[in-house]
Amino acid sequence: MLTDNPELFRGLNYPWGRKVNPTPGVPEKIADGVYWLRIPMPISLDHINIWLLEDDDGWTVVDTCLNLPNAREIWEQVFSEFMQGKPVQRVICTHLHPDHVGLAGWITKRFSCQLWMSREEFLMCRAMAGDTGRDAPEVAIRFYQAAGYNEEQLDKYRKKFGGFGRAISTLPDSFRRLVEGETIRVNNRYWQVVIGAGHSPEHVSLYCPALKLLISGDQVLPKITPNVSVFPTEPEGDPLKEWLRSNGRIRDRLPDDVLVLPAHEAPFYGLHVRLTQVIEGHETDLDNLFNHLEEPKRAIDCFPALFKREIDDSVIGMATGETLAHLNCLMGRRRVLCRQDENGVNWYEQKPDVCDFT
Ligand SMILES: [Zn+2]
Repeated sequence: MLTDNPELFRGLNYPWGRKVNPTPGVPEKIADGVYWLRIPMPISLDHINIWLLEDDDGWTVVDTCLNLPNAREIWEQVFSEFMQGKPVQRVICTHLHPDHVGLAGWITKRFSCQLWMSREEFLMCRAMAGDTGRDAPEVAIRFYQAAGYNEEQLDKYRKKFGGFGRAISTLPDSFRRLVEGETIRVNNRYWQVVIGAGHSPEHVSLYCPALKLLISGDQVLPKITPNVSVFPTEPEGDPLKEWLRSNGRIRDRLPDDVLVLPAHEAPFYGLHVRLTQVIEGHETDLDNLFNHLEEPKRAIDCFPALFKREIDDSVIGMATGETLAHLNCLMGRRRVLCRQDENGVNWYEQKPDVCDFT
């Protein structure tokens, strides 16, 4: 059982401490009818938090974990022991990433229930799963060439391509669309759908005013800054602009006194502080990156301006996407220019007329 162990850290208040780690497969009660299930994952992000909402005659589950045998085992245990024979009536996925959507197909099939998602997340998820079994398209190779990849790095990208579909169970063929501002009733309480963007295209958070809870998915995490990336499918996208805008909007729209239930790490109070930290962190990154571009640079030359850690091949894809998100944002703000050389490589530099107003 969770014991009160409030911990204040960097402006956030964690009622059960920052390192609280519920036993996998044993849901913890958070509020009346709201339970916290943690499932471990064998990747650097070593767990996901899943939220179980109880209704008179069944359960709503929010997010599902990767499609892994050990995660299915934990779910089986939860179905048979914790849920006490009441069925899962709906599966809500906050967004399309495999740790959230990985077992949605499996659970909805098992209980003949519906998957509830925003439309862009559902469609994008199916499109990405459709890449499995295909070769990496030429346009994607050119995209990473333009970022500065060498042949060896391009080869690694080719080999990894299509991995998304293998990390998830097949999605159902139809879904129930979640729309910004609508309310869902569970256990006679209303949960409002709050849409965000930037980390994924149409991310769903759920806000319950009566319980003062926010199931925040990856939109608001206490410590990690969610990845905001540009991908080859939309090379000129500006997801960082959307990310900053949606975080500001959530801060305006939701009260500060909610308990945030994030998909990773521990529940916390301090929604507005955290959103401000994330927004300001990106603004600082944008300034550092701008200062780094006095001389023309390729995307891969910009890593030191944005990341403290060494970027090796295991994280180069995420680092490249995140760097391009910051570069595209600076270009959108007309602070940076991009020129392509005769080898198809993009070089970014400060736009001269905004460097000096004196
Ligand atoms: Zn995510």
